[in-house]
Amino acid sequence: MEEQPSHSSQAGDELGEKDVNKLLLQYLLLHRGTCEEAQLLKALSTLDGSGRNEQERQARLKKWITSVNLALNALDYKVVRARNRFGGWSYVYVDLEPANDTKGATTLSPDDLKFVQWAIQKFLDQKDTMQVEGAKSTVENAVDRILSEKFGKSSFDGLQLRVYHTCGSTELLQYTDLDAMAAEHLLVRLCQLRWFYETNEGRLGLDVRALAELQTYLRERYDVPTCVVCKELALEGVRCQCGASACHVACLGHFLTHVGTECVSCGSSLERAVYMV
Ligand SMILES: [Zn+2]
Ligand SMILES: [Zn+2]
Repeated sequence: MEEQPSHSSQAGDELGEKDVNKLLLQYLLLHRGTCEEAQLLKALSTLDGSGRNEQERQARLKKWITSVNLALNALDYKVVRARNRFGGWSYVYVDLEPANDTKGATTLSPDDLKFVQWAIQKFLDQKDTMQVEGAKSTVENAVDRILSEKFGKSSFDGLQLRVYHTCGSTELLQYTDLDAMAAEHLLVRLCQLRWFYETNEGRLGLDVRALAELQTYLRERYDVPTCVVCKELALEGVRCQCGASACHVACLGHFLTHVGTECVSCGSSLERAVYMV
């Protein structure tokens, strides 16, 4: 009788690379298939317990995504590194099916997808700027902090205009093919799955899974703003009144430091820009 090969050459309780890779994928899936980069880096350092520095951990994460995608490729799934709504990096577990339509949304039924498409139209078709009134959103406050650091706290008094890429939930419950109760349930589910998010102000918009999986669909059908720094879709942050340049919150500091304070397209000052919320 042959002896079983020893399970692992790793000593004691130290995890091998394969185990770490597997556990990290499980961690991502347990978080409904989307994690921010910082979150995964933290999980990674907990798992492999070694005292790597930031750069080494980044490299390790890159190695992980390559190795995990080699395995997932056969199953038509993939982990992608994508910009999230604020312009930071997130990792999203996605279906590889064609992205030129909303078919990628595997866990959703065709009827659910019809609703998603209808909602996207609501989010992206309303492009009129309006005067800022009432309380500011988290994104607007973040933009203010960054701009006032550049223009001086005493002279900069916030932007005057905003454009919405989000909708109030009551507006989304007007969908005629579902009764209000069913639509509300679907909205909750879409938020859990990170297709949509809901702001503190009760507005809904497209979250990281939609941005990652529907990128081509969104670009083909809508005139969506692109961030001048990272070149990815930017639905939240700021854009120039001319509409030709936009910037994520996370990319705005970089722009002000390395590029300037004016729109790269029309030259108008960012002090007269428009919040995108
Ligand atoms: Zn950006
Ligand atoms: Zn401009």
